[in-house]
Parts: sequence; structure tokens; C-alpha cells
Amino acid sequence: MSLEHLSFETEAIRTQIGRSQYLEHSAPLFLTSSYVFEDAEDMRASFADEKDRNIYSRYSNPNTTEFIDKICKMEGAERGYAFASGMSAVFSTFAALLNAGDHIISSQSVFGSTQTMCNNILPKWNISTTYFKIDELDIIERLIQPNTKVIYAESPTNPAVDILDLERLGEIAAKHNLILIIDNCFATPYLQQPIKFGAHLVIHSATKLIDGQGRVLGGVTVGRADLMQKIYLFSRNTGPALSPFNAWILSKSLETLPVRVDKHCENALKVAEFLEQKDKVNMVKYPFLKSHPQYKLAKKQMKLGGNVVAFEIKGGIDAGRTFLNNIKLLSLSANLGDTRTIVTHPASTTHAKLAEEDRLKTGITGGLVRISVGLENVNDILSDLDQALR
Ligand SMILES: *Cc1c(COP(=O)(O)O)cnc(C)c1O
Repeated sequence: MSLEHLSFETEAIRTQIGRSQYLEHSAPLFLTSSYVFEDAEDMRASFADEKDRNIYSRYSNPNTTEFIDKICKMEGAERGYAFASGMSAVFSTFAALLNAGDHIISSQSVFGSTQTMCNNILPKWNISTTYFKIDELDIIERLIQPNTKVIYAESPTNPAVDILDLERLGEIAAKHNLILIIDNCFATPYLQQPIKFGAHLVIHSATKLIDGQGRVLGGVTVGRADLMQKIYLFSRNTGPALSPFNAWILSKSLETLPVRVDKHCENALKVAEFLEQKDKVNMVKYPFLKSHPQYKLAKKQMKLGGNVVAFEIKGGIDAGRTFLNNIKLLSLSANLGDTRTIVTHPASTTHAKLAEEDRLKTGITGGLVRISVGLENVNDILSDLDQALR
């Protein structure tokens, strides 16, 4: 036992900005746009970056600093910046690191808006993206071009909960001197720390399990200090900063992340095991089910299986929609990682705009249902799923 290296749970609770003159126990909310200077010299030195201090809340704020410090400790990162949403974190990270004409190699199974950004927005600056399938890591080296800068991936993937080999991605990135960026939203730093496997930057949509209660949007990028300096300068001048209020909420939420995620995972495994026994279900995907194609890999790189379960109901799109219509207690909603269990039907909603062929390539069949398992009593979750299946 030692107080020099605190454990994950303790860091999540005890990482805190300095107390004010009022000696409050819990960090207060700093609703201030700017900060005052002692004199002209203090002001000059602060603007010259000779001092590590708050100047203006687009650059930094005590609440965002506390949130970022916690995520850095939890991910094992050197430095970070907090954003208004997960997508502003993804966009600002790309925009800060890439130049016109650069090339990204991305997993095909990434968040819908990330894919839209790569396909429709980044090409405005002549930044192109080539995709690889999650079971084709061997072809990544053949996709590398002289202008390739970044390898980008998520694991587990949304909505099919496939697992990518992070260590292998780390080796490829190191060998070819590419920046490996991992969106770690589905796992949270509690279940998986991509930097240990060679990632240079880790992105989160804090909107999901980090908030965990469906209240605020937020995002964060953490990682290597030299890369973060570029992202910081880009962001401080373009304005995607997280609000102090949302940072305050998210920093408090991190204090309970380990206990919440433990329970989410316990409930999710029970939901997955329950669905596996049902006749009307073709297939259940959950990283910690032995039947998952990458079960061993999931066990190697994740502490627990996460809170998302995907399953395929027999009867295609119509059966999927009927199932959702029969749900009584659980929510039909676009979010995930909430205390409330959320059920979605990707083929008719989030992925409806994809051509069927592309949809099937990412494992999204007509009958695929995604459940973000919440913290209700698991018996109530199972009862609702059971009656909806019947
Ligand atoms: C939700 C999500 C995002 C986008 O985050 P927002 O906070 O909604 O902008 C990015 N990546 C993944 C994996 C997500 O689930």
C-alpha cells in the first residue's frame, strides 16, 4: 500500500483543483468568462504563456481543468483539452493535426457523424480517408500513402460491438510513424486505456457513460503533450471549448464512473445471456460472451464487456421495428450510456441512409437491435425485453 500511486477509483474522486478561500469540500462552479491580473507585467507574462494560469475561459477554466486532469490520470495521458461535444473533439483533433492534402486511415466501423465528417466535410480541405474492415488489420499497411498521417478507430464499435486489436494498431502506427487516435467512448477509461497499447491520442464523447445520466454534451481529447499543444492552440483560437457548467457535471460524474460502469456491465452480461437463450433471437453480440468472435481479445484489452449489447431478431427490419413498438418500460432514444436502458434499431434510424450493401458490411442487418443497458433492476429490464419478444 502506498499513497504515492493512488488507484483509479481514488484518482477519479480525489483529483481536484485547489480550494478557494472558503475551503469548500466539493469543487464549486466557476461561472466566469475571464480572470484578473495583478498588474501590467502579470498580464504581459500571462499572455506570453510564461505563466500557467487562467486568462479567458475559451482557453481554460478551473472546472474544465479539473475534468481534464481527471481524464488524463484515468487514461494515463500527459495533457488534454475539453470540448463542447464528442464531435467537436473529433473535428478539432483532425483539424489541428492535419494539413490540406493529408490522408486518414480509418476503421469502417466508426460513429456515423465521424464517417460523415471524413466523407463530406474533410474533403473540402482535400483531406481524404480510406477505410479498413475491423477483421482486416493486415491490409492497413498496404493502405498507407506518403501523405498518411493518422490511423483512427473505435473499439468496441457502434452498434455491432466488434472489438479491434489495439496493440496491433499501436504496432502498425509506431512502425510507420503515424498518429494513432482511438475513440474510447464505448469502453471508458475504466474498462480500457488505449495509450497502454500504443495510442497517441484518446477521444471521448463525455455525453455517454462519462456523464452517464443523460444530462449534458461534452467531449475530450487527451494524449501526448506535443500533439495536445497543437490541439490546444487550434481550439483556443477557434472556440469549441466545453462550458464550465458541463465540465463541473462531468467531473462530478467521473467520481462514480467505476461503480456505475461495474453495474452497467453486470446488467449487460445478464441481458446478453438472457437473449442468447431466446428462440426469436438469431445472434447476440457482447464482448464478454464466449460466443463473441473476439472474446479472447476483449478479455485481453478490456476489464469488463461494456454496457452495449447487440442482437439480431429473426424476421428482418419489420421484426426489429415491431420489437421496438412492443417495448414498454425501456426508452427508445438516440443516446447511450444513460442510467436508463435505451433500445435502438440502427437499420431504420442511425444507419438508414446507408446503402444496404454498406450497412451489411458494418454488420448492421435489418433485425439488429442495440441495447444500451442501464442501471434499473436487471429483472425489470429482462421482463420488458421478454414481453416485447413475445
Ligand atoms: C456519441 C458518440 C460520438 C459523438 O459524441 P457527441 O457528444 O454526441 O458529439 C463520437 N463517438 C462515439 C463512439 C459516440 O458514441
